[in-house]
Amino acid sequence: MAENAFSSQLNPTGNAPPRPRTGAVATEGSPLQESVLLELFDHLDDILQREDCDHTLRYSEAFLLGRPVDVEHTTAWLCRMGAHCDCEVLLNVARDVYSGFSTSA
Ligand SMILES: [Zn+2]
Repeated sequence: MAENAFSSQLNPTGNAPPRPRTGAVATEGSPLQESVLLELFDHLDDILQREDCDHTLRYSEAFLLGRPVDVEHTTAWLCRMGAHCDCEVLLNVARDVYSGFSTSA
């Protein structure tokens, strides 16, 4: 009994591991470092103000190809996060990441 009360206090969800205190909840499982992910958002935000999304991840891929990351793994992760093209990276992934930040701010 006492042990249950204690562990539920440490870990209120009961099964998820304790989260790191960065607040970047949505980047859990990301193959990218948080700083790279934020750079990607900036990059896409910048490009998509000038160019239309062509419904592929071409700008994301071009960005990732210049970095020491696993591009295929990363685009697969983006798809799992709901981003099947560059504008969806901003719409779906960036939104979740930033809402993760704001909960800790
Ligand atoms: Zn798009």
